[in-house]
Amino acid sequence: MAQLICGKCDATYQADQPIWRCDCGGSLDLEFKPVIEKKKIASRKPTMWRYREALPIAEDSTAISFDEGFTPLLELEFNGKPVLVKQDHIFQTGSYKDRGAAVLVSKARELGVTEVVEDSSGNAGSAIAAYCALAGIKCHVYVPEKTSPGKLAQIKSYGAHLHLISGSREETSEAALEAAEKIYYASHSWNPYFFQGTKTFAYEVCEQLGWRSPDIVILPVGNGTLLLGASIGFDELKSVGAIDKIPKLIAVQAKACAPLYEMFRNGLNETPSISVYNTVAEGIAIAEPIRGEQIIEAVVKSKGDFLIVTEDEIGKSLMNVCQRGFYIEPTAAATIAGLEKYLLDSSGDELIVTAFTGHGLKSTDKMMKITTG
Ligand SMILES: *Cc1c(COP(=O)(O)O)cnc(C)c1O
Ligand SMILES: [Zn+2]
Repeated sequence: MAQLICGKCDATYQADQPIWRCDCGGSLDLEFKPVIEKKKIASRKPTMWRYREALPIAEDSTAISFDEGFTPLLELEFNGKPVLVKQDHIFQTGSYKDRGAAVLVSKARELGVTEVVEDSSGNAGSAIAAYCALAGIKCHVYVPEKTSPGKLAQIKSYGAHLHLISGSREETSEAALEAAEKIYYASHSWNPYFFQGTKTFAYEVCEQLGWRSPDIVILPVGNGTLLLGASIGFDELKSVGAIDKIPKLIAVQAKACAPLYEMFRNGLNETPSISVYNTVAEGIAIAEPIRGEQIIEAVVKSKGDFLIVTEDEIGKSLMNVCQRGFYIEPTAAATIAGLEKYLLDSSGDELIVTAFTGHGLKSTDKMMKITTG
């Protein structure tokens, strides 16, 4: 049977109970052995559930799904070089967070949970709220008051209880943590099952490449839910021999909020306390990432790197992408700004994968500001 293991003290827990954090305060990961049968997978519907035996949900009947995933891996040219871009802005709720929410909420239902709490800068809250609506689970979402109105409307529309917090993103987390003393914490940064969903990013990319690993994967990092999920996915695929190497992970942060970039560059052992400046990349403005050390470890292990991008670069990449017919939100453009920076020094013969992580329609206010300049 699968078990949960603490990243800090190595304590283990049976995975049949609704816990999301170790008694010592450390974060938990699921120890899990996936099964990958390529032929069986190829015969299934094009959704992330085609990797059924790699997802830690016991019964098909408890899976909560909109038939999500298997997003197109589209080739686009940036700086004259071909890049494969996963179209993860076209998920049901408009961001890749659906990957994590699908598995987490399915697990919550399997465990008999009837009420959950989550905190978010918008997209994770929307995703958890939508899957809870589908599952019939009561949902509380805590968000900073300054969150894009489009995301607030979305969370409310799904019928979730929206709690607006008038402080920072960190104060929002504290309020949710307090609520989580009584209610199951469906946190995208704490809860190990969220990462069991985001790992399907790696599965899909490798299958779409004919069961091959890319050379470079460029992803955003705030709490690192996509990057860590991808890292778990590539590791699992390599461990069962489905691919023969793991790609270098390039983590992109906004210069206005780059604690992990600083930690990596300066060889710090702890997340530095930083001052956060205003950034249009609201989705990655995380000053105190819970899994900071784990993120650095994943990047180091892959022989990858951290990059930072300025507000100006984010704005330019956003316009570049939108003027080719893709409508992505400013946070998603930060990753593309990181890609464009990476390409300045790249030889051009690497197989590079990145993602459009969130849809622009949720951020009309910010898009208006940027386009009218
Ligand atoms: C959540 C999110 C990110 C980054 O996520 P982290 O888990 O904080 O690293 C990037 N882009 C979009 C659109 C998001 O919603
Ligand atoms: Zn522990």
